Amino acid sequence: MSTYDVVVIGSGPGGYVAAIRCAQLGMKTAIIEKYNILGGTCLNVGCIPSKALLDSSHHYEHAVKHFADHGIEIPGEVKINFKKMIERKQGVVDMTTKGIEFLMTKNKIDVFNGFGSFKDATHVVITSETGEETIEGKHIIIATGSKPSTLPFITLDKERVITSTEALKLPEIPKHMVVIGGGVIGLELGQVYRRLGAEVSVVEYMDRIIPTMDGAQSKELMKAMKKQGVKFFLSHKVSDVTRKGDEVTVTATDKKDKEVTFTGDYCLVCVGRRPYTDGLNLENAGVKATERGMIDVNNHLQSNVANIYAIGDVIRGAMLAHKASEEGTLVAEVIAGQKPHIDYNLIPGVVYTWPEVASVGKTEEQLKEAGVAYKAGQFPMRALGRSRASGDIDGFVKILSDKTTDEVLGVHMVGARVADLIAEAVTAMEFRASAEDIARMSHAHPTYAEAVKEAALAATDDRALHI
Ligand code: FAD
Ligand code: NAD
Repeated sequence: MSTYDVVVIGSGPGGYVAAIRCAQLGMKTAIIEKYNILGGTCLNVGCIPSKALLDSSHHYEHAVKHFADHGIEIPGEVKINFKKMIERKQGVVDMTTKGIEFLMTKNKIDVFNGFGSFKDATHVVITSETGEETIEGKHIIIATGSKPSTLPFITLDKERVITSTEALKLPEIPKHMVVIGGGVIGLELGQVYRRLGAEVSVVEYMDRIIPTMDGAQSKELMKAMKKQGVKFFLSHKVSDVTRKGDEVTVTATDKKDKEVTFTGDYCLVCVGRRPYTDGLNLENAGVKATERGMIDVNNHLQSNVANIYAIGDVIRGAMLAHKASEEGTLVAEVIAGQKPHIDYNLIPGVVYTWPEVASVGKTEEQLKEAGVAYKAGQFPMRALGRSRASGDIDGFVKILSDKTTDEVLGVHMVGARVADLIAEAVTAMEFRASAEDIARMSHAHPTYAEAVKEAALAATDDRALHI
């Protein structure tokens, strides 16, 4: 039987990063993945394929709607080759997952393809088509991720009533996609299909989309997506989803308790995800999890069993790839005897629609609820020369800072490339910058980043220069 310093179960951005960091720190490491392809949800059916389709559909929309504004005329009709678009997406995924295989080899990490389950606290049984094998790990990291959640009355047939996994490889462009849930997946994939010509109706339970982000972002993104033709039905409680042939009917009640029905050819269910620990036989190792399968961990991401750790979507916190990766690094360093730290307040959140949405730190709603006295500085993207040059005028940057100390407490953005701009805010907050610190830094002209400086000037002393 092979013995390892560390055995990682699951090869998503949590697991594979944990394995690399363990190997870098000199530990003999193995990783177990139930599929034959590494990379987990993120690389196979999450971040990477969804961004590939967002980019492809964005190009199409630009060609059809905006090229003419730039004086570019296309003789004849611009056509979509949907099959090719899906194949390109798969090509991007394949190239990226191959990269992880390379990294495992480079770092001398043993890869086991098979389903891992605990025999006891130090032994994992790997079951695959070729049989069963048991390996020993002094330390074991559970990085088994998450699966889509659903509602009790919904039958996910994965053909017409689908999750994000199927939405990334549909055989055709829907005529009318009814999206249940106006969160990240619903908006990103809803936008993809709207751009490609589908009618898209988003049915959301709360009174705003992306309800965990700053309220101003919800409003701005909904305004922009409405202009793009997406229909929103907020404060709607879905009570039934029925498929008849190729038709799906979604029934909901609005806030006046009136029954409303939506009939489409596809229904995308995206009401969140649940931690995935099915079949792990946690009880054999004595590891405690909640009823929903979420593993209980302490600040070192250690479970109730001292040598077993858990990271990523399978534990509490935001279900984000970069959060999982930071946790993978943390656990490897904890096992190596180091004292790493993650500031969970500074994990950025991004929605890759266009305009993009990005946030870090506290929202205005959270500051109000906590009774924190704060200043807000906001700058509209439309006032930037860079935005006018590209034609991306929707959005804003908002900086919230402490009323007394001026320390930046939260930064919330909507606009072109804000998924990248948010890194400046994370850096500033990591170093506990004040709004004035940001305002005094030189930002290249003309860039979208100038909106960050202007919002900081507005927060410092209400002295933005260009509005
Ligand atoms: P996962 O990536 O889920 O990996 C877990 C792995 O463990 C899987 O490969 C699974 O097969 C394997 N596994 C499970 N059980 C076993 C077992 N018993 N034995 C062996 N292997 C097992 N996040 C972002 O930050 N940015 C984005 O843009 C983004 N876009 C997304 C788009 C979509 C459509 C979806 C669905 C998610 C997106 N996410 C995004 C979320 C992101 O994918 C997850 O937060 C991230 O993948 C979590 O990483 P993880 O390592 O915890 O788990
Ligand atoms: P989510 O939590 O982002 O959104 C779910 C939405 O569904 C919420 O707005 C919620 O109010 C709504 N909802 C819940 N129950 C409902 C009901 N009965 N009827 C109508 N609406 C209902 O979840 P998601 O969009 O499914 O995404 C899952 C996870 O994947 C998220 O945690 C997210 O972090 C991650 N993800 C991240 C990205 C990114 O970082 N860009 C992209 C996609 C997914």
